[in-house]
Amino acid sequence: MSQREWIEKDFYKELGVSSGASQDEIKKAYRKLARDLHPDANPGDTKAEERFKTVSEAHAVLSDPAKRKEYDDTRKLFAGGGYGRGGFGGGAGGGFSQEFNLGDIFGGAAGAADGGLGDLLGGLFNRGGTRTSSRPRRGSDVETETTLGFREAAQGVTVPLRMTSPSPCTTCHGSGAKPGTSPRVCPICNGTGIVSRNQGAFGFSEPCDECRGSGSIIDDPCLDCQGSGIQNRTRTITVRIPPGVGDGQRIRLAGQGEAGLRGAPSGDLYVTVHVSQDKVFGRNGDDLTLVLPVSYSELVLGTTVSVPTLDGRVGVKVPPGTADGRTLRVRGRGVPKRGGGAGDLLVTVKVAVPQKLDNDAVEALKRYQEAERASGFDPRAGWAGA
Ligand SMILES: [Zn+2]
Ligand SMILES: [Zn+2]
Repeated sequence: MSQREWIEKDFYKELGVSSGASQDEIKKAYRKLARDLHPDANPGDTKAEERFKTVSEAHAVLSDPAKRKEYDDTRKLFAGGGYGRGGFGGGAGGGFSQEFNLGDIFGGAAGAADGGLGDLLGGLFNRGGTRTSSRPRRGSDVETETTLGFREAAQGVTVPLRMTSPSPCTTCHGSGAKPGTSPRVCPICNGTGIVSRNQGAFGFSEPCDECRGSGSIIDDPCLDCQGSGIQNRTRTITVRIPPGVGDGQRIRLAGQGEAGLRGAPSGDLYVTVHVSQDKVFGRNGDDLTLVLPVSYSELVLGTTVSVPTLDGRVGVKVPPGTADGRTLRVRGRGVPKRGGGAGDLLVTVKVAVPQKLDNDAVEALKRYQEAERASGFDPRAGWAGA
């Protein structure tokens, strides 16, 4: 069973109750299921056995209002998306507590425990008391935002981001224990964070009370972090924003989020990027757009105009007889694409009409108008009959 499946497990569904069910309803649902699914009642039925374990696990959490609330909160958080996307890689660094894997406890074929349900339970069952602290747990993801100039966003840029977030305590290096001391393995659960209790025919697994499910006990908590191993610190990190990011886009920077608890991997940083407008350029995906003001005569006679690009200028050929409003495409001079290449530069021509001309120009234009009529040009020829 994968870690993701654990995390996405719906305890309410397992018990067949709604998420608003009362404690009484949960108790009743569990009792009935436990009776029906108990291995003694279903000898050799591995499916029933699996269900029994799952149902017991669900009950252990939902029957305790405090745990239930934490479970609800955690699931809400995961539903937000950050957790699943972040990846669970990296080794849990706290060497003092044994690796913990509910899958093993329940006899399932779970994969590596690191970052799996152990982390989830660490978060669920541990309310940072000063005597105990959570086992290694991946840091949370952090959200922040930044505003970039149009060209910065298009070309990529390195920006400093100032953030206040929990970091490993510098005094105890994140262990939570006073310098010179170390946490000890919980003697009640032997570091698993889980105890089994037999009640009549049923065996229950629950988070260890002694260590509050963390698996270790800190006798002398670090005074600077009250044993949590975490301190709030303001830090400025330099972040490389890749080229081509668009307004409103969210960028993930792996490992730049909150520090993990006790040496566990850090979370990820998500930066939402706002892009300011540019005086000259617009954007359409990877294409850069540009309105090129031209004179009427330039459209009629054709010309080559030097237009700005992100990294210099390019000559754009306007063919003779180009219609006003036509868009000319310059390949490969748009916004750099992730993975190489670039979009196109789209140049839209727009006639600029002079508001003031000197007499010579007006005279010439009048002469031109006559010649134009004489040559048979009728701008409203298509309107015949209208
Ligand atoms: Zn500390
Ligand atoms: Zn314990």
